[in-house]
Amino acid sequence: MTTREIIATADQRLMPTYARNPVAFVRGDGARLWDADGREYLDFFSCLSVTNLGHAPRAVVDAIGAQASRLLHVSNLHYCEPQARLAELLCAHSFADRVFFCNSGAEANEAAIKLARRWGHKLGGNRTEIVTALGSFHGRTLATLTATGQEKVRVGFQPLPDGFRYVPYDAVAALDRALGDTTAALLLEPIQGEGGVVMPRAEYLAAARRLCTERGVLLALDEVQTGMGRTGTLFAYEQTGIVPDMMTLAKALASGIPIGALLARDEIAQVFGPGAHGSTFGGNAVATAAGVATMETLTAPGFLARVRELGAYFLARLKPLATRCAAVVSVRGHGMMLGITLRDPGAAVVDACLARGLVINCTAERVLRLLPPFVVTEAEIDRGVAILEEVLQR
Ligand code: PLP
Repeated sequence: MTTREIIATADQRLMPTYARNPVAFVRGDGARLWDADGREYLDFFSCLSVTNLGHAPRAVVDAIGAQASRLLHVSNLHYCEPQARLAELLCAHSFADRVFFCNSGAEANEAAIKLARRWGHKLGGNRTEIVTALGSFHGRTLATLTATGQEKVRVGFQPLPDGFRYVPYDAVAALDRALGDTTAALLLEPIQGEGGVVMPRAEYLAAARRLCTERGVLLALDEVQTGMGRTGTLFAYEQTGIVPDMMTLAKALASGIPIGALLARDEIAQVFGPGAHGSTFGGNAVATAAGVATMETLTAPGFLARVRELGAYFLARLKPLATRCAAVVSVRGHGMMLGITLRDPGAAVVDACLARGLVINCTAERVLRLLPPFVVTEAEIDRGVAILEEVLQR
């Protein structure tokens, strides 16, 4: 099918839940993509921090092929080797003792909310409330869109589940007021992604940890976007000096195969007994085989050091845009998660970059978000930043 045919069919037959850019990608390699008409693009988006290892990473593709040709799926009423191996790897490289596998970030957060409530019920009393931050994004199921601190995702979906409360992000005093003896968990992103690449002050998460510990509240970190190396360490919390009680992952965990995971300390995980939660496809054999290959790649010696080096290079190339382009208010970055705040809405900048063969994204209306794959080269960064500057100076 040509691009025109794909778009015409999709626009007629898919529910109109996305405002899509008029491009249909059919092939990818590293940091490059090709559309259905054979045009090449440079990718600074990684499918929204999913293809962190680039397109078609050899080790992951081979693991998928090998697993698919042996066994596609195992029911969760039986055991599955790649599922066990991925759980072992995730625990070995984090604070966690146990993992629940599901299929997306929303499902992982849904599982975190359920686990926190069950934990709260086990403690007795009325510890059922989930506190989240304004500007956050946690998913699109009814519970996770209620957890999300953005009114726009809730429009038209009432009645919503009870038991959620919101606090301003990066405000310790508000946390101090909100966390009480009815709070089951505080759910936070270490950096708000959809909210506009919002980086809290260093002391914020430390204060959140201290208040949660003092008040018997579980601290759950949503690392769906910041996890899997995106900020330069495997998980963003590693750079904060704190350890959460629960963490959710998805997106890049299997490099492009659908997966989600809730990680927790053993004591908390134990309140999920048999029958408490489940998912037919959670921990699917092919998805977890892809996850194992992804984890092995990310934890190979020197790999994350290279991600940090590339992130620093990228940020150094972007910083001058804040002085050279009147359209730019500020530039920030943490590892390979970079944000450029603009004076005006950024949709036209995204379109103009795409027309010049560069894939980027805009979130929170005025924030250009760059989530490049970790295999991008310095030369590709220079080329992409030059396109961005040309567009921003128009
Ligand atoms: N949590 C965060 C921080 C996210 O950025 C997202 C998606 O963008 C989600 C949860 C939801 O993930 P999914 O779309 O896989 O349900």
